[in-house]
Amino acid sequence: MSEAQYHPQTLAIRAGRETSAFGEHSQALFLTSSFTYANAAEAAAMFSGEQDGYTYSRFTNPTVAAFQARLAALEGGERAQATASGMAAIQAVMLTFLKSGDHVVASQSLFGSTTNLLLGLARFGVEVSFVEGASLEAWRAALRPSTRLFFLETPSNPLTEIVDIAAVAALAREAGALSVVDNCFCTPALQRPLALGADLVVHSATKSLDGHGRVLGGAVVGADALIEQVYLHVRTAGPTLSPFNAWVLLSGLETLHVRMAQQCASALELARYLETVPGVERVYYPGLASHPQHALAARQQSGGGAVVSFVVAGGRAAAWSVYDACRLISRTANLGDVKTTITHPASTTHARISAEAREKAGIVEGLLRVAVGLEHVDDLKGDLARGLLK
Ligand SMILES: *Cc1c(COP(=O)(O)O)cnc(C)c1O
Repeated sequence: MSEAQYHPQTLAIRAGRETSAFGEHSQALFLTSSFTYANAAEAAAMFSGEQDGYTYSRFTNPTVAAFQARLAALEGGERAQATASGMAAIQAVMLTFLKSGDHVVASQSLFGSTTNLLLGLARFGVEVSFVEGASLEAWRAALRPSTRLFFLETPSNPLTEIVDIAAVAALAREAGALSVVDNCFCTPALQRPLALGADLVVHSATKSLDGHGRVLGGAVVGADALIEQVYLHVRTAGPTLSPFNAWVLLSGLETLHVRMAQQCASALELARYLETVPGVERVYYPGLASHPQHALAARQQSGGGAVVSFVVAGGRAAAWSVYDACRLISRTANLGDVKTTITHPASTTHARISAEAREKAGIVEGLLRVAVGLEHVDDLKGDLARGLLK
């Protein structure tokens, strides 16, 4: 299909479909590890790469290829490489593009496992500088002649700090470094980093791309020449996405835009409500006029996202009491699900960081993070009010 003429909502449903001899209307699931050849000449041509086609599902598979094509269309990238998880995607980028002696500049507010992965690169002679993502000056000051890659995530988790993607990507380009954006929170429904100048987008498809908390998956999206290199790494090293998970993710993508639109609307309403509740000291949500980077968020995202964080007076005891009073909202660290979830970052996702560093970063004891799903927003308000107003 000629994809340039279709809107994203249409691409989410129609892009990347593989045709089949049976004319099935629903997406086919190809559960096969290998593929057969018509004859010896075809086998040889496929192995040498002269002929395109399917040989082995560690390399690629029609269901996985359909997911890759659809996600690439949504992100506005030439090509996508799917992986077994979001961390596999990030690991594949690091192992594809970095070598001993290289230097990475990364935002200090990253998903915890991403930070650990970056720190682990020291064993391979790769140094990492962590900077305050919102400060362009900090990115610039961290540059070295050996800087090879910039890595960022925006909005950040859990405080929804916004990094100016266009500005940081331009700085990376000037320095001859690759810019990589983890677009897990916004998804291409709200934010398209490649159009803002980033070189690569990475995803944890586990979150909003699936949207229903069913499977793990990940992807790297960008220009064909870069993704070819990631592909060669993945087909050799093997962090491949399973066809079954790709099939689940394809159906998740079909509802991405309606889910994100409703989740953003509910999150904004919940954030506005929380601002009126006595005992709530601060609400973090990019869609609120009170967010310090509201204008930048409005420029770079087409919605505030589904994550709302807030600080209750009374520290850990008060936060735990709101958390424990939830009957509807799920007490789990996951996000991007149609089921709303609540997290107490200081005692879970950010517990490994020293208390002092945590406070400095704003992950205070009274902080709670809610990843808004698709329940009616009044029911979500009621669930939080039970703990907040008692
Ligand atoms: C969950 C998450 C990841 C890791 O993804 P997995 O699929 O769990 O491996 C990476 N980045 C962000 C922002 C995430 O939320």
